[in-house]
Amino acid sequence: MTKTKKPLSFYQSVGNYFKKAAPHTGLDKGLLKQIKVCNAVYAIHFPVEITDQKTGKKRVKVIEAYRVQHSHHRLPTKGGIRYSEHVNQSEVQALATLMSYKCAIVHVPFGGAKGGVKINPWEYSQEDLEKITRRYTYELLRRNFIGPATDVPAPDYGTGPREMSWIYDTYRTLRENDLNAAGCVTGKPVNMYGIKGRTEATGRGVFYGLQQACANEEDMKKLGLSKGIAGKKVVVQGLGNVGSFSAAISQVEGDALIIAVGEADGFILNEKGLDIAKLIAVKMETGSIMNYGDAKKYGPEDRGKVLELECDILIPAALENQITLANADKIKAKIIGEAANGPISSPAEDVLLKKGKLIVPDVFLNAGGVTVSYFEWLKNLSHMRFGRMDKRYRQQGRVNTLDLIGDMVGTPVAQDVYKKYAKGAGEVDLVRSGLEDAMITAYENIHEISREKNIDLRTAAFVNAIQLIGSDYEGMGIFP
Ligand code: NAD
Repeated sequence: MTKTKKPLSFYQSVGNYFKKAAPHTGLDKGLLKQIKVCNAVYAIHFPVEITDQKTGKKRVKVIEAYRVQHSHHRLPTKGGIRYSEHVNQSEVQALATLMSYKCAIVHVPFGGAKGGVKINPWEYSQEDLEKITRRYTYELLRRNFIGPATDVPAPDYGTGPREMSWIYDTYRTLRENDLNAAGCVTGKPVNMYGIKGRTEATGRGVFYGLQQACANEEDMKKLGLSKGIAGKKVVVQGLGNVGSFSAAISQVEGDALIIAVGEADGFILNEKGLDIAKLIAVKMETGSIMNYGDAKKYGPEDRGKVLELECDILIPAALENQITLANADKIKAKIIGEAANGPISSPAEDVLLKKGKLIVPDVFLNAGGVTVSYFEWLKNLSHMRFGRMDKRYRQQGRVNTLDLIGDMVGTPVAQDVYKKYAKGAGEVDLVRSGLEDAMITAYENIHEISREKNIDLRTAAFVNAIQLIGSDYEGMGIFP
């Protein structure tokens, strides 16, 4: 009898990527081991009284949860909290590991961490989710696994600004003398110490990253594509936070043609392009993308086929292990932009690379979220909105320049020109500008390593991250 090989776990895939990159770093074996392992793993079970959604009766549910701090080379550690019934320790370790590398790649001075609560959030009432979130925060605090100087969570799959505000409120209640309490978590609502531009940040970063990848004429030529993201046919899997902003911004600001979108209940396709703003509104109003009118529809039994559609760019933005050996040779997209964490398993990546695909890896592409989380944390520690001190000053400088131009040419500059050019940057302008710079610089760095060493982009991204973390340890004098 032939034994079927067990598919690799996400953590094993991350381990493989590390193994592939390590020989290119020139670092000592002991140092590499320290950079690879998870520094602290916290696994907990706690009881919460919930209301059974079917019977309406109260019962006690024991919740399984984790927080993993992958690397303490810089503090605080940072990483989202995921609510999903698939959460397990190994998955959280994989995600925490990616966070360390991600932060290094976009030059955000944090170690990596990740949290996971093993629940299906869509099966709980808001009241029960609040209870679970507050109790989880308390458990983290008891063991010093949360705090503006130690470990700072953020949203991930199944969580958003609402959960982050519960976390902040619980923390500040228990630590009322902590002046920097607002910096204990990021991704908070803007009116609760959040920052403008955080909710869209991961998707916007995906857009900036793909735009930069498509701007390289030589790379596009190799794929048989023209330069630029405009007009490229794009397929998106998962229309949650990351998927919806990736799709909407690529369409509005990049002129990309989004031809198909998939969700757990199926996918929709229109070769002429979907109206993403309308699609998001339909999903919000009715709960499903399948209620969008102008498209062909395929049900839940076909949901995986969305990945196999003919297109230029495929953006998996749902969950890990979506492209495995089972479907890798059916993928027709020329570019795969990993908006989700770990959507491609490492054996599947080998197949895709052999076929000449360009994979823009998660460890770079979805780092926009943590980049803007860093800005939010800085805002919380400075207790001041970005742009507050100099917005008016800069605006007046521009007004003076336009006045001067008017005087010099003898005709006053038109009012609409003043409107367009005479403004100082507000918070969201600065956040977007800082994010764009982080993504472009990071792409250029990993692209250069990939070119120099003749390795794929993911291996190059890992080499970059491992070397940066390694130089931190060497700087501490731990590894001479
Ligand atoms: P989300 O919960 O907002 O959205 C996930 C979406 O995927 C949902 O709409 C869900 O219905 C859909 N989905 C679930 N199973 C599916 C399936 N089998 N096929 C198609 N769609 C399916 O989560 P998110 O925050 O957008 O996170 C998505 C991915 O991006 C995750 O891998 C997460 O780790 C990663 N990520 C998120 C952030 C962030 O800032 N939120 C940052 C970095 C990485």
